[in-house]
Amino acid sequence: MNPLFANIPTTIFERMSMLAREHGATNLGQGFPDFGWPEDVVSRAAAELTGAASQYPPMRGLPELRQAVADHYRAHQQIDYSAEQVTITSGATEALAAALLALIEPGDEVVLFQPLYDAYVPIIRRAGGIPRFVSLTPPDWRITAEALGAAFTDRTRLVVFNNPHNPTARLFDAEELRVLGEACIRHDVVAVSDEVWEHVLFDDRRFVPLSAVAGMKDRTVKVGSAGKIFSLTGWKVGWILAPDHLAGPIAKAHQFLTFTTPPNLQAAAAFGLGKAPDYFAGMRSNFQAARDVMDQGLRDIGYVTLPSEGTYFLCIDLAASGIDVDDMHFCLRAVEEAGVAAIPISPFYEDDPVRNVIRLCFAKKDETIETGLAGMKTVRALFG
Ligand code: PMP
Ligand code: GLN
Repeated sequence: MNPLFANIPTTIFERMSMLAREHGATNLGQGFPDFGWPEDVVSRAAAELTGAASQYPPMRGLPELRQAVADHYRAHQQIDYSAEQVTITSGATEALAAALLALIEPGDEVVLFQPLYDAYVPIIRRAGGIPRFVSLTPPDWRITAEALGAAFTDRTRLVVFNNPHNPTARLFDAEELRVLGEACIRHDVVAVSDEVWEHVLFDDRRFVPLSAVAGMKDRTVKVGSAGKIFSLTGWKVGWILAPDHLAGPIAKAHQFLTFTTPPNLQAAAAFGLGKAPDYFAGMRSNFQAARDVMDQGLRDIGYVTLPSEGTYFLCIDLAASGIDVDDMHFCLRAVEEAGVAAIPISPFYEDDPVRNVIRLCFAKKDETIETGLAGMKTVRALFG
């Protein structure tokens, strides 16, 4: 048996969701909304399911979805890809796996930013890659040229980037994108840019894809997900956009992972991507309002929160809130004794973890936030 996978614990999202079910707790852990999805997109999927044959679609995706993805990004992010440069995958997770398996050769060094989304490192290691970490630390979680300079070497082949960033809820700014782009160009490195949260941004922030940074278009693999764009996280329809020389090998890796993705959901995603801009603005303002309700509620209870610029998440600094226990201990007592599930940040680090920050998902109805806040008040009292 391969010890790599045998020794990996079950993901923190699955563990916390299981504990939430077991204890009947309000689940503010795993990132999924309990409101806000577009009914017309769901109806379209239902009609596609009953009205069309559910047989294998083309390996690289339904032509109409590949075109819709290209059109969507041209309209929303002013980046130019052809439908042939798009591959449809079973969620961003499969997109990442296909890209990493296609682009990494044994011994290649891969630069990553921690805290990081948990799917990256196991796949990189399985592909024979050697992870090199840039650590981001609260409260500002900034990427610096110095930290990049220490992580990139002449064996670096790939960087895996995530913006907007889970779990810190940061949108990396123009200066951070610039130094990252410079490092990639200087070391002739390809970037896999996980941009699944690109539409979930607040306070009128604008998203700049990594491929729009000077010199990056030909060396960037962009990953997106319908799950996040339509608040339907279980759909697992994702995609990869890549320049021709990278799109081919990545599609070859995809053909042996899932080969295809349900055609009905693909057709509905194609319909949804063409929705008018007010849908996207409305989705953002609903989640921004939920963020504000939760942020204020947490502050009222005496928690110190960190800014949430995007994603479904906001973080609490336990130490700054006067709570002197580690994040895992806090989250276990919260779910077991106070009926609220949260996510500790330390499992998002491979080494030298930050242990005083937890993440909450605010993409919830007011009543869910209210019961969650009651639990957060109870758990705060447990720690004096
Ligand atoms: N990347 C990041 C940064 C995520 O936060 C998530 C899901 N929350 C994914 C990838 C996975 O997306 P999907 O569900 O489409 O596989
Ligand atoms: N991306 C979601 C989160 O960060 C969880 C996805 C998963 O459970 N794998 O909460």
